[in-house]
Amino acid sequence: SDALIRAESLIRTIPDYPEPGVLFRDITPLLADATALRAVIHAMIAPFEGDFDVVAGIEARGFLLAGAVAMEAGVGLVPIRKAGKLPRPAASVSYALEYGTATIEAHDDIVDGTRVLLVDDVLATGGTLVAGHELVAALGGDVVGTAVLMELPALGGRAIVGDVHSVFLG
Ligand code: IMP
Repeated sequence: SDALIRAESLIRTIPDYPEPGVLFRDITPLLADATALRAVIHAMIAPFEGDFDVVAGIEARGFLLAGAVAMEAGVGLVPIRKAGKLPRPAASVSYALEYGTATIEAHDDIVDGTRVLLVDDVLATGGTLVAGHELVAALGGDVVGTAVLMELPALGGRAIVGDVHSVFLG
């Protein structure tokens, strides 16, 4: 649609952020535009409409999308946070980063059989979303879909995450 084409044009590419050699996709101009924001939220939900009980958003930029997705879809929101940020985590998963490791956690608002739509802003190497899948599974939930605003196919994340619904390819 025209709205999605315009939305894509509002994603800004910043060279050498957060470090030299990285081309950072900055979604904040898109978020700041009401029509673009609405269009991408609808596009993220569309393939999964009616199929999920909660949205799980990954800290931090995933939160910016997950709240809007949850409201629009009429479901609740479960935050997946970096270690130490939640007061009573029920599950915890560690994963490898380029340098070192990261840990994500969630509360037990996902339980056996909860149907979860996993949401993040950008799919790069895929490590974050694979950990998100493992975290939902550890709580007994079923990931019925994974949606991102932008996938960077050159980084190969799809090979380890599996089926991902990407609104835009970078
Ligand atoms: P991955 O684990 O390598 O797939 O990296 C994905 C995570 O890093 C997501 O949570 C993103 O928020 C973040 N990320 C990686 N590259 C970018 C980018 O170009 N723009 C915004 N976020 C990014």
